[in-house]
Amino acid sequence: MSTRGSSTTVKGKEIPTSISSVKTKYLPCRTFGHAWGLIGTRRADDLILFDLSCINCQTTRCDVIAKANGALEGRTYHYPDGYLKHGAIRRTAWRYEFIKRIEG
Ligand SMILES: [Zn+2]
Repeated sequence: MSTRGSSTTVKGKEIPTSISSVKTKYLPCRTFGHAWGLIGTRRADDLILFDLSCINCQTTRCDVIAKANGALEGRTYHYPDGYLKHGAIRRTAWRYEFIKRIEG
């Protein structure tokens, strides 16, 4: 892990260390949630995998579902560089940051 300015790099991925350094294009997703689109399905034994991608930020998600009853068996996410903020931030803080940027 290396740190420079307002971001840190972990395993080659840039991670902002302050909410003000998160790219503006990511704020709608952090504020309202992702806009998921289904990009494909895969089958494996008694499971079906739904591959999803956010049309706004390109985060991808894979839901692993049991064919027999629709139960969620697992879920993974892959985030674009700079999306994740180092440390937990409440949704209120994301909303406030979004407001500050659109209000100037
Ligand atoms: Zn998104």
